[in-house]
Amino acid sequence: MSSDDPIKLECPTCKKIVLWNDDFPFRPFCSERCKLIDLGEWASENHRIAGDNLDINSDEHL
Ligand SMILES: [Zn+2]
Repeated sequence: MSSDDPIKLECPTCKKIVLWNDDFPFRPFCSERCKLIDLGEWASENHRIAGDNLDINSDEHL
């Protein structure tokens, strides 16, 4: 049967097929590069929101 069939998923960054096994240590990403791209986008979005909040807060305190 197919008990050793690995789970297949898509890399969230580039949509390449990723197998859920040790060949893909960065799963669900296909590679470290795709993982860093995804984390980088998330982080830069967060930084922008945090910066806006800081501006609003300092305005109110003045
Ligand atoms: Zn990828």
